Amino acid sequence: MPEVFADLVGQDEAVGTLRRAAAAAAAVLRHSAERTLVPAGTVDGGTPADGVAPAADPGAGMTHAWIFTGPPGSGRSVAARAFAAALQCAYGTGCGECPGCHTTMAGTHADVRLVVPEGLSIGVGEMRALVLRAASTPSGGRWQVVIIEDADRLTEAAGNALLKAIEEPPPRTVFLLCAPSTHPDDVSVTIRSRCRVVPLRQPSPAAVAEVLVRRDGVAPDVAQWAAAAAQGHVGRARRLARDPEARKRRDAVLAVPRRLTAVGAAFDAASALIEAAEAEAEASVAEADAAERAALETALGAGGTGRGAAGAIRGSAGQLKELEKRQKSRATRAQRDALDRALVDLAGFYRDALTMALRAPVVPVHTDTAEVAAAAAQKWDAEGALRRLEAVLACRTAIEANVKPRIAVEAMMLALWKG
Ligand SMILES: [Zn+2]
Repeated sequence: MPEVFADLVGQDEAVGTLRRAAAAAAAVLRHSAERTLVPAGTVDGGTPADGVAPAADPGAGMTHAWIFTGPPGSGRSVAARAFAAALQCAYGTGCGECPGCHTTMAGTHADVRLVVPEGLSIGVGEMRALVLRAASTPSGGRWQVVIIEDADRLTEAAGNALLKAIEEPPPRTVFLLCAPSTHPDDVSVTIRSRCRVVPLRQPSPAAVAEVLVRRDGVAPDVAQWAAAAAQGHVGRARRLARDPEARKRRDAVLAVPRRLTAVGAAFDAASALIEAAEAEAEASVAEADAAERAALETALGAGGTGRGAAGAIRGSAGQLKELEKRQKSRATRAQRDALDRALVDLAGFYRDALTMALRAPVVPVHTDTAEVAAAAAQKWDAEGALRRLEAVLACRTAIEANVKPRIAVEAMMLALWKG
């Protein structure tokens, strides 16, 4: 296994910061281990394990709360996980070889907790339980690490529960938050003020292509096409390079501009886009849904006939309902994510038309529809292309603001048709 930071594409500055912090964190551990050897009473003030040390101490590069920011696909959660591994690494470097590195990267380290919100938000109950467990002493003797993916999806109450923990951190606990930005809409100002920010940039298509070739064994020409089409989103580039279904869905989205020939076609295109997103989302959650339901039914003893089975089933109705609620929330989120990916692809097409109308010397996002975009640019001019691009972006904004997706997409398609 290569060292843990190898998968962070095009993020040299962030990797430098994290390496220094991991080294500082290792120094904190060594320092406190040495101090425990000093006879009791001679240690000034703190306990041996008072953790993250103030400036001028060996741990100056380390702190207990971090926010990783960057556009989707830039590798926020990859960075957080790699940093967690480096904190648990026996050598304090993230060597990729020791058990600490291995188990963290595999998601099985006992002292690394990963929160991936499956619904549209992370609730207060989940956060309280997490904060409580995070306060315990690390079983591996190093750090308790809590990674919160999509910290922008914390409910206000959950954010407050987290804030309390960050304000009075247990001595060996480290919080790693991932969010699109440090805008107050994403992370509360008070949480932000207690965290060190690691900004990640959108990796260049060349950097993304390079990692697809090196790590995933993708052919160089396919890697280059996928990296450009994914617009800096590493995971999306990998899917496009390897999953024919993902390519088919993208093709269908990019056919939309050509299909908008009449008002009826605009509504048809809206329906097609929504239904494709629903189908994609359903496929992505169906397996997990069925497995969860089966597990819960087994746990509840469904099908039992013995005494008490009827009572157990009555009591279990609430749990099944709770599960269905959670699954519905996850399905809604998967749909929104799928729809958003489609809108990003579509925006890429109109961006190509715009840059071509302006004769800007930039590489197109979608090389395979570049000819269509060039023809459209001639017909529309820069202004017409810009209006259409804005219509797509306005649709994304509207859906983010909880406008019903179908209404937002229909409005967008009409705007694209009218031009
Ligand atoms: Zn290691």
